[in-house]
Amino acid sequence: MSQIILITGGSRGLGRSAALHLADRGHDIILTYRSQKEAAETAVAAIQAKGPKAVALPLDVGQARHFVAFAATVKRVLAQTWQRETFDGLLNNAGIAMHEPFASTTEEQFDAVIDTHLKGPYFLTQRLLPLLADGGRILNVSSGLARFSMPGTSIYGAAKGAVEVLTRYLATELAERQIRVNTIAPGAIATDFSGGRVRDNPEVNAYVSSITALGRPGRADEIGSAMAMLLSDDARWINGERIEASGGMRL
Ligand code: NDP
Repeated sequence: MSQIILITGGSRGLGRSAALHLADRGHDIILTYRSQKEAAETAVAAIQAKGPKAVALPLDVGQARHFVAFAATVKRVLAQTWQRETFDGLLNNAGIAMHEPFASTTEEQFDAVIDTHLKGPYFLTQRLLPLLADGGRILNVSSGLARFSMPGTSIYGAAKGAVEVLTRYLATELAERQIRVNTIAPGAIATDFSGGRVRDNPEVNAYVSSITALGRPGRADEIGSAMAMLLSDDARWINGERIEASGGMRL
């Protein structure tokens, strides 16, 4: 029986790449998108072209009050598409950037980041827990910015730091069901994230290169493959860990 992995924010960027690498490993995919339905459908078609089954569902991870209804939708999709009551892995990947100096960060910016990056994964995971199979796995997504600081990213970095702590608590509490929980912390990766600034802004690109041992920003594919590995049985004894994939930023 193939394993089913649910990926939030699987329509583009790192989540999409993870979905394709998981499909290469024979895993079926439920991916979510917030607004770009066409991109989600293109990702589903790319997964299906590799053989596995895939379904795209809309979800705003910043709106926790909708998670009960989302879990009901997942339950229905599992029954209809897989004749199953559970899925096997959750990748809490969806996210937004926030660049604002500490002194001028507003409560609205603070709430948007916390709702998306901390409250979202916290309560989405809680709501989906009855549908996650015993022996399953959860991968949360942090950032290099939780280990080192850069001006203008205080609330984003703090939220990602909280995700890393949450990961250890989940690994402890969910161990009784043999569910393992890890964090991947990407460095700066050339995606659409933050308006594509790592990819498209030459100054940002050059700065990132200058503080990265391997001398360049990462590519989505280099995170997607690591995410797929951490969600696979190859990583079955890795639990409660933070794994950074940054090419060696600020070592
Ligand atoms: P992208 O901007 O390329 O893609 C973001 C994805 O998340 C899209 O699928 C988007 O859906 C979805 N999304 C955004 N906001 C929400 C929301 N509120 N609810 C549901 N889905 C949402 O970003 P990346 O792939 O680069 O980033 C993925 C994760 O990696 C994020 O958590 C980010 O913080 C983290 N990260 C990224 C780094 C980088 O340099 N790129 C570095 C370190 C960490 P839609 O297409 O519908 O808009």
